[in-house]
Amino acid sequence: MIGQPAVPACVWFMVRPTETNAFYDPTTNSINIYPGYVTSLVYTEGMSDLDLLAGAGFSIGHEISHGFDYQGAQVDAYGTPNPVLDDADVDAFVLKCSTLALYYNKIEIMPGTMANGQNTITEAAADLCGMQAVLELAKKDENADYEALFAKLSNVWARVAPEAVLPNLLLDAHPLNNLRVNVNAQMFDPIYDKLGVTEGDAMYLAPNERINIWGPNA
Ligand SMILES: [Zn+2]
Repeated sequence: MIGQPAVPACVWFMVRPTETNAFYDPTTNSINIYPGYVTSLVYTEGMSDLDLLAGAGFSIGHEISHGFDYQGAQVDAYGTPNPVLDDADVDAFVLKCSTLALYYNKIEIMPGTMANGQNTITEAAADLCGMQAVLELAKKDENADYEALFAKLSNVWARVAPEAVLPNLLLDAHPLNNLRVNVNAQMFDPIYDKLGVTEGDAMYLAPNERINIWGPNA
């Protein structure tokens, strides 16, 4: 649609080509990726599988989970209001997400400023799924270079922002970018097994402190 006149009735009318974002729409059960999101870090032709996982893969895993989170589970595959989780599942999900939010609340992002778990509870849960999906798929590659994988994830989410915008960033529904990598990475085995993070390291979390929301072992 680039180069063509904007037509209000066009299905693309809300799409800003420069927007660096992707989203899940429960009413159409669709994952939507804005053109501006598809930078060379996220997707290029011929990209290695691991780079693709760390780029587009993380975000697609994140968006898929929105179809099954508290809001997404209110509608069925056709976007019709028809809850797909029973009350016990909802309670368990809310409890796990709350645990994650409380964990974020304990993270000091700058001296005297804490992350805001309540504001980011839904997106933080989706990030956990994004990371889990990446690592599950990476397992299929016996020779996966985990140093490179996590370096790539870090590059994708690296962001520089002036200190003055921090209050605004903390109102966002998403965790700060560095936390989107670090918090999720520390919940899964590879940074311990493959990267050698051990007790005493800043990113170390004891096994019983690691939060698992998604998947068969959650
Ligand atoms: Zn999201």
